[in-house]
Amino acid sequence: MSDTARFPDLHDKMDALIATARRCFERGLQTNAGGNLSVRLEAGDAIVIKPSGVGFAECARDNLQVVLLDGTIMPGAEGLKPSKDLDFHLDLYRIRDDINAIVHCHSPWATGYASAGLEIPCLTVQTIEKIGRMPLIPLSANGGPQTEVEISPVFRNTAIRAAVLANHGTIGVGKTLMAAQYLAEIIEETAHIAYVRDTLMAAHGKTVADLPRYGTAADAAKDRVPV
Ligand SMILES: [Zn+2]
Repeated sequence: MSDTARFPDLHDKMDALIATARRCFERGLQTNAGGNLSVRLEAGDAIVIKPSGVGFAECARDNLQVVLLDGTIMPGAEGLKPSKDLDFHLDLYRIRDDINAIVHCHSPWATGYASAGLEIPCLTVQTIEKIGRMPLIPLSANGGPQTEVEISPVFRNTAIRAAVLANHGTIGVGKTLMAAQYLAEIIEETAHIAYVRDTLMAAHGKTVADLPRYGTAADAAKDRVPV
């Protein structure tokens, strides 16, 4: 059976992944051949993923890999090695059926925070309400990059949609590729905002106690006095 007979949405999903990868590259969230992104096929038990050594701007139908959730790599994309992060992608799809797409990149502002051992604070009302928290996941105990051993326990909490990997990069997950890409952008934007805030506070001698306290819409609703 051909791949498109088994997975009728294969070409649509490949094209969506190619477009998302190009957007990620053009926004400067991922240069060179690092990072990776994947999308679940409608069959549910298989994904399309960018292999190792292919840049986000160079993704094409003939260099993407189809991998079953049990780890079986389907024929195609000859001569290319699977992504080093394939195992954590597969595990996230296995443990969360609400995840249909993952964008993992090494965007510089967010990775700067991650390399300083700092969790990126959700500062804006949008990020407080829509994301809540972006946990910082430490390096593997053996000193290597994070694997499913460190990443999956964090994402078992179904409220978690974004996380940052110490000394490594970011992960955004979503129901669609665009939703996961938006998270990759919000993580980076939030790190940039946090850096500007912290720099200005330091320059002006301000502390957290000087900041205005503003709440979310949920806080406002809670405090509202019924009439
Ligand atoms: Zn990476």
